[in-house]
Amino acid sequence: MSKRLPTSTAGSLPKPAWLAEPETLWSPWKMEGEALIEGKQDALRVTLQEQQQAGIDIVSDGEQTRQHFVTTFIEHLRGVDFEQRKTVKIRNRYEASVPTVVGEVSRHQPVFVEDARFLRRQTDKPIKWALPGPMTMIDTLYDAHYKSREKLAWEFACALNQEARELEAAGVDIIQFDEPAFNVFFDEVNDWGIAALERAIEGLKCETAVHICYGYGIKANTDWKKTLGSEWRQYEEVFPKLQRSSIDIVSLECQNSHVPMELIELLRGKKVMLGAIDVATHDIETPEDVAATLRKALEFVDADKLYPCTNCGMAPLPRSVARGKLSALSAGAEIVRKEL
Ligand SMILES: [Zn+2]
Repeated sequence: MSKRLPTSTAGSLPKPAWLAEPETLWSPWKMEGEALIEGKQDALRVTLQEQQQAGIDIVSDGEQTRQHFVTTFIEHLRGVDFEQRKTVKIRNRYEASVPTVVGEVSRHQPVFVEDARFLRRQTDKPIKWALPGPMTMIDTLYDAHYKSREKLAWEFACALNQEARELEAAGVDIIQFDEPAFNVFFDEVNDWGIAALERAIEGLKCETAVHICYGYGIKANTDWKKTLGSEWRQYEEVFPKLQRSSIDIVSLECQNSHVPMELIELLRGKKVMLGAIDVATHDIETPEDVAATLRKALEFVDADKLYPCTNCGMAPLPRSVARGKLSALSAGAEIVRKEL
């Protein structure tokens, strides 16, 4: 990017109410068949328009064509039975009924490639596309086949790599892997989690990112955050190894968070997508709030590597709130851009 402090979002954006129930995760579609395909494309047009109007520099699909950032990808793979469900604890935090891995997992068809081509045709701006990370995927399933988290993560990484290569060919500029699980399973991250991520980005020529956050602003996450104490030092466990990895960009949470800003120093040399918008509140930041966070971050990241972003996805927020937050992000970045 030639523009300094290019803005983007971490991932999901609210869907229109005619497409899916608003402010709800795993919200069922309100259409089916051909109408649903067309409805999703219209939603892609709308989310793109909203991002461009708000002045967002690196646009995305806002995850308009998926029900959930992890399950939609898995639904397209072989080897996972969505009828056989087991209750497991996700990220050691909340119980959920999840599908079962019943055989070898493989990707026999593209998942988001058509959507990416569609979005590419609508804009000349750089596009970022989010995929789930291998460790976060295995944490959302019951494994009755491999009986090894590492082995299953590796197989998912291979499937993700196939998808990522086709997304790159479709014109995606940045491919991001969402790994909230990196904030929970530190030993596994260092033992094999980062290696699995490297497998997922193998051979890619486009830029690559990993997004590590404290989750959506849903109750299970806000309750968990209350147990983390006054300083959140989880990033300290995984940033040193990520800094030595071949991932280009690390997307992290900062606004209203208890993450000590100096931990960003551990990533020196990497590009940092810095969460300057809190997704766990309906209060809309002022541009000055955003600018203040960016200025603090500039102590620990070089200006040409700072990418203002949101803490996480905004799918559960009202659309007007999300729009307001996007505009604040742009305006806040512009304040700091002028100071550079
Ligand atoms: Zn997130």
